[in-house]
Amino acid sequence: MKYQRPKGTTDIIPGESAKWQYIEQTARQLFQKYRYSEIRTPIFENFEVFSRTSGETSDIVTKEMYDFFDKGDRHITLRPEGTAGVVRAYVENKLYGPEIQRPFKTFYMGPMFRYERPQSGRQRQFHQIGVEAFGVDNPTLDVEVMAMAVNLLRQCGLQDLKLVINTLGDAESRAAYHAALMQYLEPLENELSDDSKERLHKNPLRILDSKDKEDQKIVDAAPSILDYLTPEAAEHFSTVKKLLQALDIPFEIETNMVRGLDYYNHTIFEIMSNSKAFGGHWTTVCAGGRYNGLVEQLGGPEVPGIGFGLGVERLLLVLEAEEIELPIADDLDIYVVGIGEATNEETLKLVQALRHAGYSAERDYLGRKPKGQFKAANRMSAHLTLTIGEEELRDGKANLKNMQTGNEVSVALRDIYTGFDKVYQNIVESEEE
Ligand code: ATP
Ligand code: MG
Repeated sequence: MKYQRPKGTTDIIPGESAKWQYIEQTARQLFQKYRYSEIRTPIFENFEVFSRTSGETSDIVTKEMYDFFDKGDRHITLRPEGTAGVVRAYVENKLYGPEIQRPFKTFYMGPMFRYERPQSGRQRQFHQIGVEAFGVDNPTLDVEVMAMAVNLLRQCGLQDLKLVINTLGDAESRAAYHAALMQYLEPLENELSDDSKERLHKNPLRILDSKDKEDQKIVDAAPSILDYLTPEAAEHFSTVKKLLQALDIPFEIETNMVRGLDYYNHTIFEIMSNSKAFGGHWTTVCAGGRYNGLVEQLGGPEVPGIGFGLGVERLLLVLEAEEIELPIADDLDIYVVGIGEATNEETLKLVQALRHAGYSAERDYLGRKPKGQFKAANRMSAHLTLTIGEEELRDGKANLKNMQTGNEVSVALRDIYTGFDKVYQNIVESEEE
């Protein structure tokens, strides 16, 4: 019997995980500057949290849910996205209370699950880094959220990005647009894909998001929502555009963009890459928008919200395809070389002392000859080696060598144990001489 990971999942092994940590750390630091704090919600939720919010005609609900009945016959879903769970937690923990700052700004990172056909950039377990901000309807916040997403991708080294925006307006704009869209699509019903025929009477906006080539041709000539906005919705969108310009953030408007989830309104956006990772097609790495109404939908008060989700696997695919190296340093501070069996105890004490003093330290456990140990030190890019043989041990000394400069000094073991910082400073500064 051969054990294999489930289809559509990956193992993130050491080496690879360093890139993940770098991206997560970059995100944490950036979010801290924008004053977003972390929220950790369950990886599974009651089925209805997603089915009621994502939309009954969305791909997520119709095809991709990882749902099951637990031993207590509860209908459970592994979360396919982050927002609905965060909104559920926001309501359940009453984070809209008068004593809580508005906007209430929070971020999350972690695994999401969708039953998809696995392919490059599309997995069954994937990871998102996302943010949500509640309690402010001001378009300035929309722009700040988009700016933060763009900054995050840039700080991860991505340069060739495209920010695409659109608006879905408010309920009134949507109703007017819905009517216009129906008028346009109904005579074309027979030409639509089977999926879209189904969507036509349930949620025609979904057709704009169809991945079917023939549908897309029809969609290209569809009316634009921008012609059906109420004055307030138009005002919101024009402020967004004006403020993006004020921040010198380039953007494109795509009037047919709707997003894969039903809960959005007003500003929606995607940050896309046409990297060779995706065969040169424009592919979405980060997506989000405003969702005024979602908090109420999950039983909370009338509180607006906005957020985005970024696909970490897709970001990593682009970085790899574009040969963008993340500045990940895995150098070793000190390798302790022990010569002769008698030094075993002392080298153990030395690596422990060095680690406690705040340095990374490694030694040999395989009884290798000095030559083999130095080779290992080189492979680990050790900055220093500390060598101790039986004679040095007797004298209470060891040899410290700067591997960059070749400079070598004899140091008392006592000095290493009582204050290695000073010893370290001396040998490192010897570099500059
Ligand atoms: P798509 O149209 O590509 O299916 P979506 O509309 O379903 O995307 P969202 O729900 O907006 O995507 O998710 C936000 C981001 O999460 C996507 O832009 C992408 O980077 C990432 N993502 C979504 N689904 C997957 C998946 N199955 N595997 C890897 N990443 C994913
Ligand atoms: Mg999808």
